[in-house]
Amino acid sequence: MFSLTVYTIRSPASIFHDDHDKNTVHSCHGSELARPSPANWAQHAATSDPVSGIASIPVRELRGVGPKLAAKLADYGVHRVEDLLFHLPLRYQDRTRITPIASAREGADLVIEGEVRAADIVFGRRRSLVARLQDGSGTLTLRFFHFSAAQKAGLQSGTRLRCFGQVRRGSSGLEMFHPEYRSLEEGEHSVEEALTPIYPTTAGIGQNQWRNLCGQALARLRRDPPADLLPPECHPYDLARALEYLHAPPPDAPQALLREGQHPAQQRLALEELVAHNLSLQNLRQSQQAQGAPALAPGTEQQNAFLASLPFAPTGAQQRVMGEIAADLARPVPMLRLVQGDVGSGKTLVAAGAALQAIANGYQVAIMAPTEILAEQHWSSFSNWFGPMSVAMEWLSGRTRGRRRDAALQRIAGGEAALVIGTHALFQSDVIFDRLGLVIVDEQHRFGVHQRLALTGKGAAGHGKPHQLVMTATPIPRTLSMVAYADLDCSIIDELPPGRQPVTTVLIDNSRRHQVVERVAAACSQGRQAYWVCTLIEESDALQAQAAEATAAELQLALPELAIGLIHGRMKPADKESVMAAFKAGELSLLVATTVIEVGVDVPNASLMIIENPERLGLAQLHQLRGRVGRGREASHCVLLYQGPLSATGRERLLALRDSSDGFYIAEKDLELRGPGEVLGTRQTGLMEFRIAQLPAHSHMLDEVQAIAALIRRRHPELAGPLIQRWTGSKQDFGNV
Ligand code: ADP
Ligand code: MG
Repeated sequence: MFSLTVYTIRSPASIFHDDHDKNTVHSCHGSELARPSPANWAQHAATSDPVSGIASIPVRELRGVGPKLAAKLADYGVHRVEDLLFHLPLRYQDRTRITPIASAREGADLVIEGEVRAADIVFGRRRSLVARLQDGSGTLTLRFFHFSAAQKAGLQSGTRLRCFGQVRRGSSGLEMFHPEYRSLEEGEHSVEEALTPIYPTTAGIGQNQWRNLCGQALARLRRDPPADLLPPECHPYDLARALEYLHAPPPDAPQALLREGQHPAQQRLALEELVAHNLSLQNLRQSQQAQGAPALAPGTEQQNAFLASLPFAPTGAQQRVMGEIAADLARPVPMLRLVQGDVGSGKTLVAAGAALQAIANGYQVAIMAPTEILAEQHWSSFSNWFGPMSVAMEWLSGRTRGRRRDAALQRIAGGEAALVIGTHALFQSDVIFDRLGLVIVDEQHRFGVHQRLALTGKGAAGHGKPHQLVMTATPIPRTLSMVAYADLDCSIIDELPPGRQPVTTVLIDNSRRHQVVERVAAACSQGRQAYWVCTLIEESDALQAQAAEATAAELQLALPELAIGLIHGRMKPADKESVMAAFKAGELSLLVATTVIEVGVDVPNASLMIIENPERLGLAQLHQLRGRVGRGREASHCVLLYQGPLSATGRERLLALRDSSDGFYIAEKDLELRGPGEVLGTRQTGLMEFRIAQLPAHSHMLDEVQAIAALIRRRHPELAGPLIQRWTGSKQDFGNV
């Protein structure tokens, strides 16, 4: 049961890091915004229309915004005045103090003020306009390489200037190159009251323009503050105050904290954004579950026969997770479950158990993999397992074309195909199922929410939504899965099948390549098998294939007596299959491969893996690759053959991999060192694009995010819609999926 006291544990002091900010409201414009007390807040939030005011005013209504600028702003996702306020500065400049020239330090960005003594065009190596500025404490040179006659005329002797720029040491003492400057009125002394924001921008909109627009938006904010959509007990900072602080921080604002995104005002906004994101995924879940699903009776004869036919017993963890799934499937509500497990923990078996439950109940199952080679691997596992049970299987990938595709579509639509395995091709609109009961997505972190939903939309009328099982190829840090998969229940296979040998990993510099080649020769001469993995940063299959071909040729030259095979993504499926079959059968000792073998390949006798240029790959990917060895009884080794010198982070990453075989730990490390986009591989899908929240910087708030979202759903359900609208409105329309 939730109660409001949950939040009193997190007193403001535990959330606020900067003491000086704890009790006072810093407002550069002296307008302290009244914060409604908790007692009247609910009423306030309910009565103020969250989509009125700055949330509904188009930016076009601001001064100076014509159709052209509005179009440019739209490129930044800025359509309404409120969006402008969520466009937060990247950093700040301090223009609140005037520094006497005598105490100006080289390299600093400073405001100085003084009188022009002389301004002349100097013909040196480059023609420049040089002005001497004197302020009583000293003299400094202003230097302009690009200037106009009017500019020179404006710098007459006696003019008082205020300049902002970086101080350097030049030929004539301290200088500023191309400072920003303006002449001062008689008797003018006022300086900036707030730090000056530097906004993220590319060409097209200048800093002054951003400042002007945001200034106007802040003025509107003060007149008509937006509804505070977070219950006040959740965070002591109100929205308007946080926005004002971040666009115009007081001179003594803690800049280091701001740079790290950890200022309470930033946390306040990030918290709200993450809560909104969580609510939108929960909404999605609710709308999915509202539709009902076929109840699939568990413990079917087929499932039992299948388990009995295996040459091994499922691990305890596999049994537990299979139990969780079986129970979900038995309910007339769509299952929404994520299965995580380390490489080799046996996720495929768990998927097979689930698939059989649906098939035995007369429903179809779709299994979707992100790559052709992974789909092929599933095809071969499932044909081995289900072949004896005469389950009708169908294949559908992008390469299935023409008459073969027509026939496949027909068998899928007619219901003859019980199990359909394939790639993205399964999303296509002409793929129609007869009775789709279960969708299994082997994600490898590549599909976004929308893609997943596209498949569940293929449930047939009258049968409800299909159940959904999402499997990840490698573990995802908990913090990330809490955000990216908040709509799913999570099962973890936290146990490897017995008898797995840990893989010993070493780092070797490429200058010792010949030693590695000798080591490969020695291992193969003892009847063992090895992988040599070539990596390239380029996503191009063609370049990768070339690199692998060159390496295979080089190794064959060095080791003429060795049977060496080559596999890469550009080969025809039949050729890939025959190479893999030869390697599996032991006819090839060494397999040179691109990262296509990252997933799915299973040859227990292979006990040595060389990974070239591991510094180019993510840790999760390396861990996945390494998972191809250590599957048999031999002690296995993985050589990370890096190209030195490594950067400090590069070294730290590879050492993390060397020293750990725990995929969950490695994933956390990857997140810390490379950020969520790389780890999830979802930069393309936009899944993790937040306006303000950053991971892992704001990971520590995620438990709180969940609790607040739950609180809102229970106590203030009317706020969920406005929150989702505010933060994800223009971007994602989950309701319409
Ligand atoms: P992943 O979780 O990485 O997808 P797989 O499902 O590919 O792992 O399983 C890896 C290997 O382990 C396969 O060869 C599979 O047959 C085998 N395996 C799965 N479960 C067990 C088990 N309980 N005991 C022994 N081997 C198992
Ligand atoms: Mg797998």
